[in-house]
Amino acid sequence: MKLIFASHNQNKVKEINSLLDGLVSVYSLNDIGIIEEIPETGETLKENSFIKAQACAKITGLNVFADDTGLEVEALNGEPGVYSARYAGPEKLAWKNMEKLISALSEKSNKKARFVSWICLIINNKTYYFEGELKGTIISEMKGMNGFGYDPIFVPEGETRTLAEMSSEEKNSISHRAIALDKMKAFLKEYKTN
Ligand code: IMP
Repeated sequence: MKLIFASHNQNKVKEINSLLDGLVSVYSLNDIGIIEEIPETGETLKENSFIKAQACAKITGLNVFADDTGLEVEALNGEPGVYSARYAGPEKLAWKNMEKLISALSEKSNKKARFVSWICLIINNKTYYFEGELKGTIISEMKGMNGFGYDPIFVPEGETRTLAEMSSEEKNSISHRAIALDKMKAFLKEYKTN
């Protein structure tokens, strides 16, 4: 089975293809020659995953999926959430986002946060959702060089290191994205045999 991933991010496609273990073949928008960007205009992560998947299904007429991820901080009522990438401005700079978050939390005692990933799969015109979360806390200084985004200030529950201090294999074994993807993988396995 062939699935189109509604993204231009080749690194994500690589990671997804390896996590899906040959169960289906995943192609990015680049792979099929689509250059247009799909705007993320939703108010929630789930809605954004649907908007991207639906637009991609319309353009390609194929089976597709899309994802959207954000960091939800308890003491900030779920912010930055859907605005995680552009929290500190449209340049989408990770260090600026982290500095803004550290300062927003400096007076708060509750540092709990969670990453949430939503995947929306549209297959044979039916829509399915898969969610993954990773709970943890936000620390006040950046630690570690691996990963991306908020990884240097996020310590997963039960851990002492930040995500940026873990190897990509370690992160992939617990991450929000891997959990959501695992759920989709289980669904696709069943789907193929029915
Ligand atoms: P996307 O939906 O995967 O593009 O993620 C949106 C934004 O959420 C990214 O630009 C990052 O700021 C943040 N983010 C998503 N996943 C992660 C992660 O695994 N670690 C750290 N930050 C992440």
